[in-house]
Amino acid sequence: MKSVTNMAQMISPLANAPQAPIIDPFGRHVSYLRVSVTDRCDFRCVYCMSEDMHFLPKQDLLTLEELDRLCSAFIGRGVKKLRITGGEPLVRRDIMQLFRSLSRHLDSGALDELTVTTNGSQLSRYASELAACGVRRINVSLDTLKADRFKEITRWGDLNKVLAGIEAALQAGIHVKINAVALKGVNDDEIETMIEWAHGLGMDITFIEVMPMGDIEPSRFDQYWPLTQVKAQLLDRYTLQDLEDQTGGPARYVRVKETGGRIGFITPLTHNFCESCNRVRLTCTGTLYMCLGQEDAADLRAPLRASTSDEPLLAAIDAAILRKPKGHDFIIDRATSRPAVSRHMSVTGG
Ligand code: SAM
Ligand code: SF4
Repeated sequence: MKSVTNMAQMISPLANAPQAPIIDPFGRHVSYLRVSVTDRCDFRCVYCMSEDMHFLPKQDLLTLEELDRLCSAFIGRGVKKLRITGGEPLVRRDIMQLFRSLSRHLDSGALDELTVTTNGSQLSRYASELAACGVRRINVSLDTLKADRFKEITRWGDLNKVLAGIEAALQAGIHVKINAVALKGVNDDEIETMIEWAHGLGMDITFIEVMPMGDIEPSRFDQYWPLTQVKAQLLDRYTLQDLEDQTGGPARYVRVKETGGRIGFITPLTHNFCESCNRVRLTCTGTLYMCLGQEDAADLRAPLRASTSDEPLLAAIDAAILRKPKGHDFIIDRATSRPAVSRHMSVTGG
């Protein structure tokens, strides 16, 4: 494994030179890159993975040095926000090396934000190191506060470990946002409890509609709980004040007058958010997905490995962005039992 200094030296000078920003054919500025650093995970959430998942052979994965080089090429082209995700990003071996190396872009001002989406299982171990690398905000996925239910949803997870991880992150001064998938008949009785718990600890909480990605054992239709219904339920109990969108992301936020905290709603099915999409997604094999909800993808591994110059890579990025589609075609109903895309969420990291 190369040292952090070696990783930084591998960056082509091109990556630091001022270059044209990435603009797609619909005039959307791509300023946000999400990178799935592994397809593996220590959980098997029922809406995300089947119990019997087949993972990529380790030799197919980009090395941490290659991931750094790819991220740095995007940063050179004006990407300002980088989210490390997975699978479970914090189970990848030596992953802190990548965070340490990428933090140089925060120091230089090229990058505004380095962040991570995690299931929280490894946070106790890594929270202070993440904070030291300049990670200021993280998303932790948590769908229930009941230990038995947590086990049922994640199949393999331990709620206490995740709660300890969240506490470690808060102690390290990291802002934590909770992401919860709204699951009909599973956690619909806990929404208010989760909101009050999160807001009590100063954390925002975002609810997500289950998305039709990859084959899983349970039916998506059975899991799907439209957030329009969740919001209606919350209005019986709380005063919700709509907030201006400040993130440019898919979540729409409200402030809860009674708690003072914020709730986000990510509604790919009931409200399509594609018109403001500023992001692309890179997998751990160097495949670039221009849209979460479409199959089209571009291989960046071959141009990355073809040359030590970033020129072929940057040309491949430009060609890929020209194919960024206008939007996704997610739909969940009884008649549509097949997933909209064949890959699981763990491939592209949500
Ligand atoms: N393992 C990390 C975690 O769970 O936070 C990062 C990867 S996970 C794929 C990213 C997010 O996608 C999680 O918040 C998870 O709940 C969400 N997710 C996974 N499958 C989903 C699906 N089919 N529909 C909606 N959200 C999904
Ligand atoms: Fe793992 Fe995250 Fe998928 Fe759950 S949602 S199985 S934690 S990748």
